[in-house]
This record gives sequence, C-alpha cells and structure tokens, in this order.
Amino acid sequence: MHTEKSQQLFDRARLSIPGGVNSPVRAWRGVGGNPRFIAKGQGSRLFDVDGNEYIDYIGSWGPLLLGHRHPEILAAIEEALTRGTSFGAPTGQEVELAETVRELVPSMEMVRLVNSGTEATMSALRVARGFTGREITIKFEGCYHGHVDSLLVKAGSGVATLGLPDSPGVPKGFSDTTIALPFNDPQAVEDAFLAQPEKIAAVIVEPVCGNMGCIPPNGGYLESLREITARHGALLIFDEVMTGFRVSAGGAQKLYNIVPDLTTLGKVIGGGLPIAAYGGRRDIMTHIAPSGPIYQAGTLSGNPLAVAAGLAMLRHILQHPEIYDQLNAATGKLAACAPESVTVNRIGSMMTWFFTDQAVTDYDSAKTCDTSKFGKFFHAMLERGIYLPPSQFEALFVSTAHSEEDIARTVQAAKESFEIALA
Ligand SMILES: *Cc1c(COP(=O)(O)O)cnc(C)c1O
Repeated sequence: MHTEKSQQLFDRARLSIPGGVNSPVRAWRGVGGNPRFIAKGQGSRLFDVDGNEYIDYIGSWGPLLLGHRHPEILAAIEEALTRGTSFGAPTGQEVELAETVRELVPSMEMVRLVNSGTEATMSALRVARGFTGREITIKFEGCYHGHVDSLLVKAGSGVATLGLPDSPGVPKGFSDTTIALPFNDPQAVEDAFLAQPEKIAAVIVEPVCGNMGCIPPNGGYLESLREITARHGALLIFDEVMTGFRVSAGGAQKLYNIVPDLTTLGKVIGGGLPIAAYGGRRDIMTHIAPSGPIYQAGTLSGNPLAVAAGLAMLRHILQHPEIYDQLNAATGKLAACAPESVTVNRIGSMMTWFFTDQAVTDYDSAKTCDTSKFGKFFHAMLERGIYLPPSQFEALFVSTAHSEEDIARTVQAAKESFEIALA
C-alpha cells in the first residue's frame, strides 16, 4: 500500500498544526504509524490521497449514520446554499429541526442548538448549576463529554480520586467541582450524594459509553441513576452526543426507557455538519436567556447549512425506522466473528472488540486490554482495506451504506487479523 502522499502531508502538517491534527485521536498515537490523509468519501468507502480505498468504520466518529455523501443530505445542503450560508437571525428550518428533535426524543421539551458536542455539555452543565443553585457535578471515569474544563477529570488513576485536572490549564477550582466515580456502580453515586448533601447539581453520563470503547449500562443502572438524582434534587443529564439517533431513533433513553432531565445531542444530529443541541424539561430550559437569566449564545448557532443537513438526517430516520434493524443485523455479524479471547460489546451499530478475556463494564476493566495486540489488529485490518478507529478505547460505527458484501469482506479480514494479532 502506497502512503507517500499521506506521509508528506503529515510532515507538513506537523509544522503548522500541533501534532499535525485538529483533534488528537486522529494522529494514531494509540496504534502507532502515521495517519492517512483523506481525499474523499462515498457511501461506506473512504479514499486517501494515495488512492487507497477503505471500508470506513469511523464514519467521522459517529455522525455518518447514512454513510458518506448520502443524496438526501447533499440535496438539502445544496438547496440551503442557494439561500445563503449564515444570517445570525432566526429561520423556519431551525424551528422544524427543534420540533423534529422533540418528536424523536420527547424528553426534550425545549431544544437549544449549538455547534459542537462540547458546547452542548458545557451549556447543559451551566443550566443544571443555574437551575439547582448547586455547583458539584458527578461524572464517570472513562466517560468523555467533550473538552469542557470541569469535565476533563476522568482517569481511573490517582488523578480522579485526588480531583486533579487531567489536563494542564484546567484550574483546580474547576476540577474541584467534579466528582469522578466508576461507571456501573450505583452505590458509589448514592455514597457521593450522602457525603455532599444538597451540593450536587447534576449527574452527567453517557448512557451507553462509547469513549472508553462501547460499554453498555448494567441492568437497572440507569434506573438507579434516575431514582437517586430525583431523590436528592439533582438533575440527570444524558450525554447522548454519541448514542442519540445511533442506538435507536430515540437514543439510549428510548432503548432503556429512562426520562432524563436534560439531554445533549451531537454527531448524527448534524448529518456530518457541525451542529449539536441540548434540551430537556421545559421548566428548566425556560431559565435560559433570553427567557431567563442563564446566559448561552452563539454567532453561528442554528447555521442554515448545518440545520438543513440535520433536518434531512432526522427526516430520513423518521421515514425509515427499519434502518435500525438493518444496522443491528450488520453489526451483529461483526460482533459474532471474534474469537473467545476477545470481549465484544455491542449496542446497536456501536461496537468494540476489546483485546481482553474479561468482561468490560467500566474503565478499570477496559484498561485490562492488551493495546499492543489491538495495534497489530488495527494495522492488519488497515492492510486489508478496513479503516477502524485507531484506538482500543473507541467504538466503531456501522452505517446504512455498509452492504452485505462490505460486512462479509470485513468479517473475513477480521478473522485473518485476529490470527495475526493473537499469534
Ligand atoms: C463526541 C462526544 C462529545 C463531544 O462532542 P464534540 O462535537 O467533539 O465537541 C461529547 N460527549 C460525547 C458522549 C461524545 O461522544
């Protein structure tokens, strides 16, 4: 496989862009080697600048539920372009998008559009604090909620217990407002509330974790979070930036039948353009400016191109509920091909092959993975034209553009690659 052009671009990129990338995981530090620079995508395929073709299981890290360049999404963007790129004033399509979100995710009685998942979680936290008059947030080790200062407390090591920021530049006072607890352990949450009565504003959780690899909630866990937060007067925030419109048309909250107070959405909601949202109970959301005192704003929020793409995506989901059966079936075939020494977690079209024989239920068990075996597996797959997330601690995503033939080819490549990695 020729990679000279990617190599040259990466060399140039590192002179002008920190690490050569605009988001760290793209640099392939978790698997070694140099990233491929992408020339174009089409359907289930990615093509790099050296002309190599891959079956893509990153899907832009989640947004591309329908694959690359889906005709309905392209048509919506092209139509929006004829009207203009940005107005900084309200438009009819924003209202339609908010109404469509409410239809699919009924707990979101009111919706505010923002530009990234990070902005959505940051804003939801501010609203939770402003509404409850409390400052502390509980999050879970290994859950990622964007690069919000106070939420960059996450590692299972000493940093989490000491409340030290995981990143230089986060003031200690910010990380002090965050308690990081193990995922899937309701007693830890109960104990934290008892230790800090009436201080905790919210519990924020990825209802199905995707950012330490795919880790589903244990039976009853989300119900416990719902019950404990309600009893202590705190808000339950479902960060569905990854799971929204991914694990079901109504997200994880529909799949597990839990009604959170606030929800954040991103990724799929933009159909590949930068858009995200937060929303929830009307009595909470009316505290946001200009209807209330909690400030949150955005020059490009509700951008017409992004809104058009998002609306086309959500309309497709509403009109084709059967896509989730197709996605489940396709991803199920990938899950089934792993050998016994590899643990597979899958919810819908989110899946991770964990290189450990232990059950993976939280950050500590995820860390039992042999990342060097994963690195070998990743490169063996890449050689076979399969483009996986370049980290053991990420979920892969299947799209509706993946054909049965794509899946069969991937299963064959995976069987060969497991043998190489586990040898
Ligand atoms: C991707 C992600 C975010 C951050 O979204 P950005 O658009 O990258 O800022 C937040 N929460 C979860 C669960 C995510 O998967």
